[in-house]
Amino acid sequence: MNSEYDIVVAGAGIAGSLAAAAASRKGAKVLMLDRNDESEVGKKTNWGWVCGDAVAKSHLDFISDHIDLKFGDPELDLKVDGVYAFSPDLEHKFLFDGEGYSLDRPKLAKKLYQYAIKHGAEYVPKFNVEGPILEDNKVVGVYGRDGKNEQVKIKAKLVIDALGIASMIRRKLPVNNYIEKEVSTDDIESTGRYIFNFEATHDDLRYYDPHNALIHLNQVLAPGGYGWVFPKRGNRMNIGLGVEKKSLEIRNSKLNKKDTLHMLIEDYIKWVPIIKNTSLDETDSNGKGYWSVTVRRQFDSLVYPGYLGAGDSMAMPNPISAGGIGPAMVAGVLAGEVAGEAIAKKDTSLESIWDYNIKYNKDYGNKTAGLEVFRVYLQSMNNDLINYGMAHFLTEEEAIEISYGRIPKLTLRSTFNKLLSGIANINAFRNLLFVVDKMKTLNEIYNQYPNSPKEFDAWKAKVSTEMSGVKEKFKPNPV
Ligand SMILES: Cc1cc2nc3c(=O)[nH]c(=O)nc-3n(C[C@H](O)[C@H](O)[C@H](O)COP(=O)(O)OP(=O)(O)OC[C@H]3O[C@@H](n4cnc5c(N)ncnc54)[C@H](O)[C@@H]3O)c2cc1C
Repeated sequence: MNSEYDIVVAGAGIAGSLAAAAASRKGAKVLMLDRNDESEVGKKTNWGWVCGDAVAKSHLDFISDHIDLKFGDPELDLKVDGVYAFSPDLEHKFLFDGEGYSLDRPKLAKKLYQYAIKHGAEYVPKFNVEGPILEDNKVVGVYGRDGKNEQVKIKAKLVIDALGIASMIRRKLPVNNYIEKEVSTDDIESTGRYIFNFEATHDDLRYYDPHNALIHLNQVLAPGGYGWVFPKRGNRMNIGLGVEKKSLEIRNSKLNKKDTLHMLIEDYIKWVPIIKNTSLDETDSNGKGYWSVTVRRQFDSLVYPGYLGAGDSMAMPNPISAGGIGPAMVAGVLAGEVAGEAIAKKDTSLESIWDYNIKYNKDYGNKTAGLEVFRVYLQSMNNDLINYGMAHFLTEEEAIEISYGRIPKLTLRSTFNKLLSGIANINAFRNLLFVVDKMKTLNEIYNQYPNSPKEFDAWKAKVSTEMSGVKEKFKPNPV
């Protein structure tokens, strides 16, 4: 390990390996640091590569177009035609996302890592990153402990933080207006999942579909979140569930229960009636795991002097699906490219790396504030309202538009001409109109993402005003 690099990438998961590959391809001297040994690269926690493993094809295509990396066997475990979200009564389903793949996460991580190494990035395993080295409020490297538990400092012209949700670099930055140090618990889902070998007792495409990934919205089974059954190759499935803390507390108090996430997952598995003879698929010791995922818009800025963040470290997972693989891929590539270009032109100033903010916003980020609004609205609905809403409020086309963060082309207001019954349902529909207006406003604000750091504070204030209004209006109200 040399003492100074152009770029240190902290974390060699999805975002980190892609950032290292993209920056190396631009000619930068790059070092990746991760606590994992090479044999377990990309492992998120002691629990393994904890994930639902689903990714949209469009995100893989983005990577192939940008850095000429193609995907296939074995990392693409199974192709799926789409992702369907079911209403709690299972009477209605909406297509939520298009063609995609169920991944073999350990194999994907290995492929991304090897690609970074092939392009010249170096890797130090068993390195625990503890924080940023700061000089004059600028990040100039990272410190941590190596495999011998010795304190090591590594200087770099730029640091890319890809340490995941609990990033030790982000949380030790000085208080600043660009990067938030912590994520509110209201914006976090506690999640867990099993990978099962199983036998199907009978076919019922509402619970398990070998060609589609299924999401079950249900405020009793998964308060503030959802359950999922994603098919994998062979007779295997990825089955899991996410909950939001406050929603779980309210649900438990209404039902007079003391259920925990672990208990809810067990209940959900029993609720899926078509499976029997399940056993954990312990390939790569990855059969069962728990971890957290954010469901808010990404941080308003992804850069700070000397620092760029990508993936879960920047709260990038999609606010309604919690899908974070795609955004981590997009962000990793863009952060690596912008950082590599900044090194090549010998300008690593904040103004120079600001381009990453602009590019990420254009390619993915500009819709997520609107999706956060929709997520907050959804969490305020009980099962009856979700059932009714999925039956009466939206056409399938309108729902698809919303799930992509776009404003439906058909005017929802015309639905008022439909017969809606029940005061709670009518209020929920009025709230939906409010939400769609807010999504539109936020999309417009994001389409004017600041071109330079100078305009950032005023822009951020507009986002905060809109978002706090929404969070005041809608509170979790499960069951
Ligand atoms: C249960 C669950 C299900 C999910 N399902 C899906 C899904 O189906 N589809 C989807 O798109 N997304 C899903 N997600 C989200 C997705 O898994 C993440 O968004 C994705 O892993 C983010 O990648 P990343 O590279 O940013 O971070 P991570 O994958 O978390 O990688 C971080 C890396 O940093 C390393 N690291 C962390 N701290 C340190 C440290 N202090 N020192 C050294 N190294 C460190 C870790 O070892 C790891 O290699 C799910 C998440 C969970 C928890």
